[in-house]
Amino acid sequence: MAAILESRNCETPGCSSQAKLQCPTCIKLGIIGSYFCSQECFKGVWGEHKKVHKKAKHDSDSTDNYNPWPGYRFSGKLRPYPVTPRRIVPDTIGRPDHADHPEGVPLGEKQMRGRTVIKVLNDEEIEAMRVACKLGREVLDIAGKAVGIGVTTEEIDRQVHEACVDRNCYPSPLNYYKFPKACCTSVNEVICHGIPDKRPLQDGDIVNVDISAYHNGYHSDLNETFFVGNVDEAGKKLVKTTYECLMLAIKEVKPGVRYRELGNVIQKHAHTNGFSVVRSYTGHGINSLFHTAPSIPHYAKNKGIGIMKPGHTFTIEPMISEGTFRDDIWPDNWTAVTQDGKRSAQFEHTLLVTETGCDILTQRLENDGQAHFMDKL
Ligand SMILES: [Zn+2]
Ligand SMILES: [Zn+2]
Repeated sequence: MAAILESRNCETPGCSSQAKLQCPTCIKLGIIGSYFCSQECFKGVWGEHKKVHKKAKHDSDSTDNYNPWPGYRFSGKLRPYPVTPRRIVPDTIGRPDHADHPEGVPLGEKQMRGRTVIKVLNDEEIEAMRVACKLGREVLDIAGKAVGIGVTTEEIDRQVHEACVDRNCYPSPLNYYKFPKACCTSVNEVICHGIPDKRPLQDGDIVNVDISAYHNGYHSDLNETFFVGNVDEAGKKLVKTTYECLMLAIKEVKPGVRYRELGNVIQKHAHTNGFSVVRSYTGHGINSLFHTAPSIPHYAKNKGIGIMKPGHTFTIEPMISEGTFRDDIWPDNWTAVTQDGKRSAQFEHTLLVTETGCDILTQRLENDGQAHFMDKL
C-alpha cells in the first residue's frame, strides 16, 4: 500500500484514527479517497469497499461511458477513450534501444543525461538526419490528410504506423518509456503527449499530431496542429500565433546565438497575442538519440545552456496556451493538459545549424502545394 502524507482520518465507520494507508486498487483506478488507518481496518471493510472497484470497472467496460479513472477530476471537456493493443514493427526494420527494453528505457540517452556538451554532426551524420527528417515529413503529411470529422486518433495512429513501416522507419514514440502508440495526438486542452484512442474527432477540434521516425540510426521529430471542420476564430488565432512563434524562433537560429535566446522571441510573440507559453516541456537536441543536449525552454529569461554551432541538430516546439501555462498530467502518466481546460497548440521542426543560419530539415516539400499552408489562415 502507498504511504500518504496529508493528515486524514480512517474511512472505516466508527474509526477516527489517523489514516496511514490508501487502497492500492483505488489508486490504480484513479478513485480519490479510500484512506484507512491500518490493514485491520481495511480488511474489515473490504467486503463493502470492493464494490467501489467493481462499479469503476463496470463503467470502464462500456464504450459510451468509458472512464478508467472514476475519481479523477478532468480540467476540461476531453475524456479518454479505449486504446487498442500495440502494433508490431517488423524485425527487418532497425530499432532504437528503447524499442525492446522491458520498461522502454532509452539506455543510450540515459547515459548522456545531465551532460550539456552538444554533438557536432559530421557530413555523413547530417545526411542521415536529412533522410530521416524527409521521411518523418512524409509521414506527418499522411497523418494531416487523415484528419477529419469523425476520424479517430486511433485511425491516424494506424496510418502513421503503416507509413513508418512502409518507409523502413521505426516510429520512435512506440515503447519510449512504454508509450503505447506510434505518434502523439493532442486534442484541444491537451498540451502534448496525448495517446491515440477511439475518440472520433469532432467539428471544431484542434488536434496536434507529433511524428518521430527513426531511420538508419537517426531520429526525426516534427509536429503540426490541424483544424477539424470549422474552428472558431479564437482557436484559429491560437494555432496561427503558435506557428508564428516557431517560425520567428527559427529566424534567430545561426552560429553564435545562445539557445536560451529562443524563448525570449517566442514568449514576446505569444504574450503580445494574449497567450501563454508552456514551461514544463522543452525543445531538445536530436540525432542518434531521440532526446539529448541541448534542452531548449520556450519561455523568456530561461537558463538554457549552450551556443549554436554548425552541425548541431535540435528541435524547437513551442506549446502555446489560451489561458494558464500550467499543466497537469492524466493518470495515464502521459497526457499533459492545461490546468484550466483551455486549448493549447504546438508546432515543431527539426533544425540543422549551418555556417550562415539553419536548414529546416522537416520543412514541407516545396512542390506539395501546401508549403505555405499557414499563410492562408
Ligand atoms: Zn515531436
Ligand atoms: Zn520533440
